[in-house]
Amino acid sequence: MSAFILDGKKVRNEISKSLHDEILSFVKKGFVRPCLAIVQIGNNKESETYISNKKTFGEKLGVTVLHIHLPENIDENEVVKEVKNLNTDQGVHGIIVQFPVPKHIRKDVVIEYINHYKDVDGLGSKNVKGLWVDSGKSIIPATARGILTLLNHYGISVKGKRVAMIGRSALVGKPTALLLSNHGATVTLCHSGTVDLETVTLEADILISAVGRPRFISKYHVRPKQIVVDVGITVEDINTRRCVGDVDFGEVSEIVDYISPVPGGVGPMTVLSIFQNLMDSYKIHIADHGSSQ
Ligand code: NAP
Repeated sequence: MSAFILDGKKVRNEISKSLHDEILSFVKKGFVRPCLAIVQIGNNKESETYISNKKTFGEKLGVTVLHIHLPENIDENEVVKEVKNLNTDQGVHGIIVQFPVPKHIRKDVVIEYINHYKDVDGLGSKNVKGLWVDSGKSIIPATARGILTLLNHYGISVKGKRVAMIGRSALVGKPTALLLSNHGATVTLCHSGTVDLETVTLEADILISAVGRPRFISKYHVRPKQIVVDVGITVEDINTRRCVGDVDFGEVSEIVDYISPVPGGVGPMTVLSIFQNLMDSYKIHIADHGSSQ
């Protein structure tokens, strides 16, 4: 393996130290702890793992994490009511609705009810528009923020770089394309209808894959000097919970200059970014309300 590893776990641990210290300094001054509310609807097993990871990480930082577990058959109106209660709760600074939600719940409708200051996933329309117009004030979706933080941490500026973003979901691909474009990259947004994907990826300086297909990116998609960021997560072995990314790490890491692994690359950065978003919201709340205990 010749590529340098973009180690998301290491970067997350380094940045968490300063986040932890910042939270402690607010607590010492008598402010309430930042609080993240995670709303889970139903009993999706994967969601339980993701929530438990966020809870463990958040609590290590000194954040209060509320897990609100609603039943599978709950009415959409009841979910909205819960979100509205969290909006008005002065002790809650961030709200996440964990995906996936049951089919009868319209996730886009529910997200719209989250107060945009508390929308720490950055998926509501006000935050999406902020990213679209590059307001500099909106909450950035966590994976997009995590990718940029990871690159910047290793001294990689996206300004002037050509980026091939593979995947155009509202959760990952589109916000990442917009964010990097806002930071000066020239982005090509690829999807299942892209013709001759290899030509696009070979032209790129930075290749980011968010498809969700193991070994989708092979040695034929890459060339020397490139930076490869693997967002994909596929659980390959249900018993061991072994995860793999989109990139054939073994062969691609022999060719490119930088590569993010799975696990241990973008995943930890995404969790970190949620809590960075929460801290941004918390500080706005403190500035507006000065909510001391
Ligand atoms: P998604 O909504 O299923 O989107 C997948 C995208 O891949 C779609 O835009 C799709 O194109 C595109 N695609 C499918 N086949 C393709 C092909 N042959 N060539 C080019 N593009 C193709 O998934 P997502 O929510 O964005 O997530 C993507 C992956 O990232 C998943 O593995 C997910 O688990 C992972 N993920 C990781 C993190 C993290 O923190 N590491 C966070 C979120 C998601 P169309 O639009 O044309 O269908």
